[in-house]
Amino acid sequence: MNTVMNGSTQKPQVLCISGHDPSGGAGIQADIEACAALGAHALSVLSSITVQDSREVYAVRALDEDWLVQQVQHLLADCRPGAIKVGLVGSAAQARRIAGYLRETGLPSVVDPVLRAGGGGVLAGDDTAEALRAHLLPAASVITPNAREARALTGLDDADAAAEALLQAGCANVLVTGGDEPGDTVVNSWHRRSAAAVRFEWPRVPLGFHGAGCTLAASIAACLAAGLDLATALSEAQAAVHLALRHAVAIGRGRAIPGRIRSGPAGPGESRDAIR
Ligand code: PLP
Repeated sequence: MNTVMNGSTQKPQVLCISGHDPSGGAGIQADIEACAALGAHALSVLSSITVQDSREVYAVRALDEDWLVQQVQHLLADCRPGAIKVGLVGSAAQARRIAGYLRETGLPSVVDPVLRAGGGGVLAGDDTAEALRAHLLPAASVITPNAREARALTGLDDADAAAEALLQAGCANVLVTGGDEPGDTVVNSWHRRSAAAVRFEWPRVPLGFHGAGCTLAASIAACLAAGLDLATALSEAQAAVHLALRHAVAIGRGRAIPGRIRSGPAGPGESRDAIR
């Protein structure tokens, strides 16, 4: 993936626009780790800060839209992202500005329409959700709602019908994730306008996780930044998430976080390869 140019090493870059989760399970830290695990460099732009732990979200504060714009503009002028990943959006104004960047840059983009945390806390208000629907989601190459978000965005109970409605509303590709749905198998469904839906099935890792959705969206973006086509990027990213869930880490009293970075100092008599 890396090539040497002018004596320095180049890596695929992903412009990540996300909130901060101080527990490190979700948000921008998930993006940075997911990108690093797949050999990409995350350019990490903050949309909002939160007060939360592994159990709950206690407060959310959006950064000024102007701060977000300045962060993005300087990075676009200086760096060479190959894809954009958008997670938590702090306000309707932010959603409109980010949609503008997705259209202007023409880069492959992944938008995870974050509305609520898995623990139930509200992360995006009604006006932000409406701006996502109207402006941001139709500007993305692929969106990754979980089934609950797909239902909330469309008002439809059936997740497949919700995905089709999102296509009708202008979204190009919709990957509805089923990690929070019941069943021994996790089914993720890729809907697109030109072809029948594709189902990806994964054995369920039997725990609730904090940050799985952020990890998936950032992993897809890292694969796109590396030049993979969308079908391959979706498969590779899901495989990366499945592996991270199998190596999940308990960091507190709530849900475990995906084990995205699995290398560390080798213990006595242990080779580094044994840790992976
Ligand atoms: N906090 C931030 C900043 C997030 O972006 C997200 C999800 O995208 C969450 C919390 C919630 O993560 P989860 O639903 O996995 O608990």
